[in-house]
Amino acid sequence: MKESREKKKKTSRKSGFHKLLFGRMQVAMTLFLFIVCVLVAERHNVAVKKSELRLDVLEQEAFQEPPFEKEPECLLLWNSQEDNSVNAAEEMRAVLRQMRVSYEEQDVAIEPELALSGYPKAVLAFGLYDALGEELFEIFDSVKEGMDLLIACPPEADRYYDMVFRQMGIRETDPSERYTVRRLRFKKNFMVGGAGKDFAVSDPFDSANRVILDPECQVYLASADETEVPLIWKYTYEKGDVVSVNLNYFEKAYRGFYAAAYSLLSDSCVYPVINASSFYLDDFPSPVPHGSGEYIERDYGMDVESFYTNVWWPDIQELAEEHGVRYTGLVIENYSDEHAAPLSGNTDTRRFQYFGNELLNMGGEIGFHGYNHMPLVLPNFYYGEEYESYRQWESPEDIRTAMAELNRFCTALYPDEKFQVYVPPSNVLSQEGRAILAEDFLDIKAIASIYFEGQAEYTQEFEVAKDGIIETPRIISGCVIDSYMEIAALSELNFHFVNSHFLHPDDVLDEDRGAAKGWEAMRNRLGEYMDWLYTAAPEIRNLTGTEMAGAVQRYYYLDPLVEEGDGEIAIHLSNFQDEAWLFARVNRGTVSQVINGTATEVAEDLYLVQALENEVILKLSYEDE
Ligand SMILES: [Zn+2]
Repeated sequence: MKESREKKKKTSRKSGFHKLLFGRMQVAMTLFLFIVCVLVAERHNVAVKKSELRLDVLEQEAFQEPPFEKEPECLLLWNSQEDNSVNAAEEMRAVLRQMRVSYEEQDVAIEPELALSGYPKAVLAFGLYDALGEELFEIFDSVKEGMDLLIACPPEADRYYDMVFRQMGIRETDPSERYTVRRLRFKKNFMVGGAGKDFAVSDPFDSANRVILDPECQVYLASADETEVPLIWKYTYEKGDVVSVNLNYFEKAYRGFYAAAYSLLSDSCVYPVINASSFYLDDFPSPVPHGSGEYIERDYGMDVESFYTNVWWPDIQELAEEHGVRYTGLVIENYSDEHAAPLSGNTDTRRFQYFGNELLNMGGEIGFHGYNHMPLVLPNFYYGEEYESYRQWESPEDIRTAMAELNRFCTALYPDEKFQVYVPPSNVLSQEGRAILAEDFLDIKAIASIYFEGQAEYTQEFEVAKDGIIETPRIISGCVIDSYMEIAALSELNFHFVNSHFLHPDDVLDEDRGAAKGWEAMRNRLGEYMDWLYTAAPEIRNLTGTEMAGAVQRYYYLDPLVEEGDGEIAIHLSNFQDEAWLFARVNRGTVSQVINGTATEVAEDLYLVQALENEVILKLSYEDE
């Protein structure tokens, strides 16, 4: 089946198809008839085996252990009077919290006197050193004595900066004129996926300080141009390390850079990761998507429906087979604008049978997108400027009716499946709608909406909500993977070791999502992304939506307590269940043996650790020293 499908696809994709000889035409026709027969046969083959989950969501009661009581490891210094510092502190809190770093914070606008003793590390998340005055010297005195320091904000030009920049490893600097960084280049392979490629900055501005560094500095990241302005570097000042991040991008898409920079401080740094890669197919299966088939007609000379069956789906399957991807398809029963009971339903189930069963046979999973494409919102919800065609459901009862109908529809189609993943239409979801999803008449365990803030979108972190529903945000989407998405994907590989991508069948009908480029170009771009991802992170696990939720749940409750001894790093884990994954940055020594787990080097000095017990020991060797 696969072979013939590929042949068919290649035939249909050939340009100059009309020039083919009559004989080849006959072959193609025969092949076509054969495929029709196979399709018809498959359509009737409803006895599909239940897809087996490799990692299920556990009962919440399993996670009883409290996090460890830890001495604060880090002091986060920020200034509520400085706009940039407010953003920097917000991002650094997210980074430290999710890395399970126990930290305290101090707003120097309120409390200008520093008490650094007892903190092994500090993060300096403001750039106007004048505001702190001579207290600033306390910080560098502490570094001299062994405290490690992360400089999160590029400092502003002022006399106090002039007095300390040498202690950051800078020889010359002129911060009065900032440098516009347009691309990033890794000078060391310290982040997963960073090697061998420059990364464009999507909204460049005069962000960075121009600096000339002491040759003792280790430069990890620089601008990708002739100047190669250092953007992340490390300098050892007496007994302490100073890591400077000269990026100035305080937004969610860069958290992985700050996490990686923080991990360069001290001998080692261990933090939990999710280790999951998921690809979601929104609106699939669904009735034939709406939209203009202009470009499909142009490139393939076929109608939208046969394009999906004969070109799009085989291509999507081929991409998955190449990398072991297991899609999560999200069902839409119909595209009506109904928003109150009674609902008309959908009796035409052929496409659902065929595509749904194919997807399950590939080891995929089916989840809910909606009875129709109307988000689960009530009349009190304001959509904003966008989404003019969207309606609000008249009452909570109407939302329940719609979800119950979708559940009935899918259960009849796929009787052995449980529908545990919900993706909100257009990523829009109200609090009331969300509460209904958590009710007992459904099996929803995870909501996969979106990671980045939008207008009306339901924005998430990778976490477990108070009601037990697991938030599994999607990070990037579509076939036009732009520079922002590339940075975000790279960042998340390093922050959570996660990939989460969604694709719509109707991307190919929508000019905003790349339709004019043609499907072939779109498919190739997606293939390129997958090639990058699985080359950068061959160890990452391909999981379906529910399995991703299982991974996020285990990650969310996991708390490591790390003891560094001579020759080893002992990791104690709270809420360890059946498996756990961590990143271990080992700045001194190399891992030579692992007790109760495995370790794979995924970037320079960065190990992906699989814990098999709640105590893992990394044995180190110091041969290079
Ligand atoms: Zn959709």
